[in-house]
Amino acid sequence: MQRQKICIIGSGNWGSAIAKIIGFNAEAHPELFETDVPMWVFEEQVNGHKLTEIINTEHENVKYLKGIKLPQRVIAIPDVVEAAKDADILVFVLPHQFVRGICDKLKGKLKTSAVAVTLIKGFEIAEGGGILLISNVIRQSLNIPCAALMGANIANEVANEHYCEATIGCQDKQLGQKLKSVFQTKYFRIVCVQDETVVEVCGALKNVVATAAGFTDGLGYGDNTKAAVIRLGLMEMIKFSLVFYPGSKLETFFESCGVADLITTCYGGRNRRVAEAFVKTGKPIGQLEQEMLQGQKLQGPPTAAEVNSMLKTKNMENKFPLFTAVHKICQGTITATEMIECLRNHPEHN
Ligand code: NAD
Ligand code: 13P
Repeated sequence: MQRQKICIIGSGNWGSAIAKIIGFNAEAHPELFETDVPMWVFEEQVNGHKLTEIINTEHENVKYLKGIKLPQRVIAIPDVVEAAKDADILVFVLPHQFVRGICDKLKGKLKTSAVAVTLIKGFEIAEGGGILLISNVIRQSLNIPCAALMGANIANEVANEHYCEATIGCQDKQLGQKLKSVFQTKYFRIVCVQDETVVEVCGALKNVVATAAGFTDGLGYGDNTKAAVIRLGLMEMIKFSLVFYPGSKLETFFESCGVADLITTCYGGRNRRVAEAFVKTGKPIGQLEQEMLQGQKLQGPPTAAEVNSMLKTKNMENKFPLFTAVHKICQGTITATEMIECLRNHPEHN
């Protein structure tokens, strides 16, 4: 088989951590992959220098993943078309709000045989209501297949090589195995499943639950309350999948993309941290995002809005009280304390 060229589209906190893994595997398997791995970087000035230049000379993304060396053959490129044009495998890993714009730039510029995998957690609001999976945005815009990789993967821990797992959702088994060889390392273990929609839906929805977990932390509640949020959140995640994506398999929720990612994010994620600060300080979420994350992006609050657009369209807000409450708190129409009332009266208790 011809050596495959991998291109990484995105270079934030997770994008840089995954670049370390991909760069390592590309170098370790020259029989499978081209050693050079282009990585598209949204250009910006950092300490008076272009971020791409810093990455290509210091081999470190000093803004989004400080202290972690990237393989030398990961090459930062500021032009996304230039980065992606010869690629066989495209790894999409950028905050979900920017995907559509990037796909528009790539339209008609890729190899027709290219395949994609999304590591992006979130949805897009569809014209006329409802939501689109990010994999569908990629598939439809670029006319290429798209799998999903999701899991309990806080970027800094992965970058520090702490053992963890991830799930690849790919209907095509052969493509799933090919993608596994791009990502699996000694410390990053992959399970492939065919239920690709649930893998992706889990990744998006857990950020809404993590935001709720942060609200309870902000209120000063303890681990029992958080466990209730995780349980009710999981029930809503399952219900959402079964209602809106018929054919969803329950067992997929027991993979890393499901319960495991939900737990790690509700304890260690950025959404949790900012949501806690939101309750404690009363500052707007956007302001806290800027103050606390230094350019990294929150996915939970926009995802809560996307989920709400689906629930509103289907007149089902009251069937998903946790998802609905998170959106309303982010909008400022109810308080975090009122979310506890929503949980108290959750349909799961009837
Ligand atoms: P991030 O939160 O670090 O976001 C910053 C990135 O956004 C930077 O690369 C920045 O250049 C880019 N950016 C800023 N403005 C932009 C614009 N106008 N257009 C395009 N790009 C712009 O990103 P991340 O942590 O790599 O997250 C990417 C995806 O991976 C998200 O969907 C996230 O949920 C998911 N994810 C993150 C983690 C994690 O621990 N960070 C783990 C698993 C999955
Ligand atoms: P946060 O965006 O909340 O940090 O979650 C990271 C993540 O998705 C871990 O799997």
